[in-house]
Amino acid sequence: MAVRKIKRARKPNLRATNISARERWLAVLAKFNRNMDAPASKRYWAPDFECASRGRIRDIQNEKLAAMVPYLYEHSPFYRAKFKDARLRPSDIAKVEDLAKFPVTTKDEMARDVSAHRPWGTYTPIDDARWRDHGWMVFSTSGTTATPRSFRYTSFDRELWATTSARALYAMGVRAGDAALTCTNYSPHVFFWSLHHALNLMKVTVIPGGVPTERRIQMIDLYRPALLVATPSYSLHLANTMRHAGFDPGASSIAKVICGGEPASGVASTRARIEQAWNAELHDVYGCTEAVPAGWAFTCREGLARDPVSTHVQEDLQIWEVVDPDTFEPVAPGGRGLTIATNLNSEGSPQLRFLVGDFATFDYGKCVCGRTFARAIGGFNGRADDMLSIRGLKLFPSVVEEIVRGFDAFGDEFQIVLETEGVLDTFTIVVETRAVTDGSLAGQLSAELEAAIIRQCELHPRIRVVAPGTLPPTEFKARRVIDRRVVL
Ligand SMILES: [Zn+2]
Repeated sequence: MAVRKIKRARKPNLRATNISARERWLAVLAKFNRNMDAPASKRYWAPDFECASRGRIRDIQNEKLAAMVPYLYEHSPFYRAKFKDARLRPSDIAKVEDLAKFPVTTKDEMARDVSAHRPWGTYTPIDDARWRDHGWMVFSTSGTTATPRSFRYTSFDRELWATTSARALYAMGVRAGDAALTCTNYSPHVFFWSLHHALNLMKVTVIPGGVPTERRIQMIDLYRPALLVATPSYSLHLANTMRHAGFDPGASSIAKVICGGEPASGVASTRARIEQAWNAELHDVYGCTEAVPAGWAFTCREGLARDPVSTHVQEDLQIWEVVDPDTFEPVAPGGRGLTIATNLNSEGSPQLRFLVGDFATFDYGKCVCGRTFARAIGGFNGRADDMLSIRGLKLFPSVVEEIVRGFDAFGDEFQIVLETEGVLDTFTIVVETRAVTDGSLAGQLSAELEAAIIRQCELHPRIRVVAPGTLPPTEFKARRVIDRRVVL
């Protein structure tokens, strides 16, 4: 009922000139969110958007952008200042091709803004009055060393989160009547919350797995869910614990493992491990708290047969750009660069040119599934923030993960430990074997891993092969990098 009330209340005439920037933006959002609370066909939740021509996708982006920019300008002092600094007016950013004129928005800028304007910052268009009447939930980035960057998402956002995330789950083959075990605690993790509301909308049973691993195993055995929702690292830990408890995860009811929070399908050896451990399809979603909390990028079912797997971005909901990491200039179509998202799917956080910051290569050709949304080839497997600089060389932890997990004899847990010795960085990989091994086999594995790392990363690592159970098990997101280097 609440949903219907929101829609009825928001029906201003879009051609009228006397409506506010907020009313216009919400009306445009509602216009493109109509008839989205049930699947429109057997294959696609919203074929009008998912299979739209490239020209129509561009028209939708232009219409949404032209309504979003004045709203953001009017209600966000942070963005007003950015317009002023760039000597731009809102009318200068009316079409997708105008976006390049606007300076990229970074996490550092937001962090400075929130330090000056605690606790919310001014980078979102939600003020206290709007929040009091339409507030839904607060989500934040982790803020252990600084003020967290916080985002107030509204009750209208909740509706958008459900309808647009359902499209992704439907593309994975999730259907009404399925059941999902969601492995999470009660945390501000946008992926789990958007997924939860989408599953509710889709009439999929949710089994909240906010309990210890042993209970989760019992729940799989007892309720026989077809879907497991977890981080990739945790899905492997759960499978191992299950084996030790005498259950075979590969013979369980789980038919699809849906991952978020860490790269999954983009790391081929991790993908193979999860698929083999569960004897199930691996799907993953990609987004961020700031600009893509829902309506995420996703793997489609038909595309799983392709190697490498690719990830669709939902282009009627966000404008995606790929830019050079140093200059932030657009790369040529099909080139590799960093991701930027302009969020056209939110009342609470419609960010403009937000630097999500993963390396990606986009393909704009039609997918085998029939969708016309662009795809990130090989998924997203390296956020620039996670990149390590070791002795002047760049290294992504996901590259080490890919190599380590390519060895059958190694277990699922490993760590990269960085320390300082004299004036030099030391780079150690600590890795568990799958089973207890003798000294000579450990020595041989160590030599093989060292050679593989040198070959692919051009860095000389130290290797410590340790017994199973030595490293702390992953309970949610894995902590792979321990950086104890001294800043000289
Ligand atoms: Zn596809």
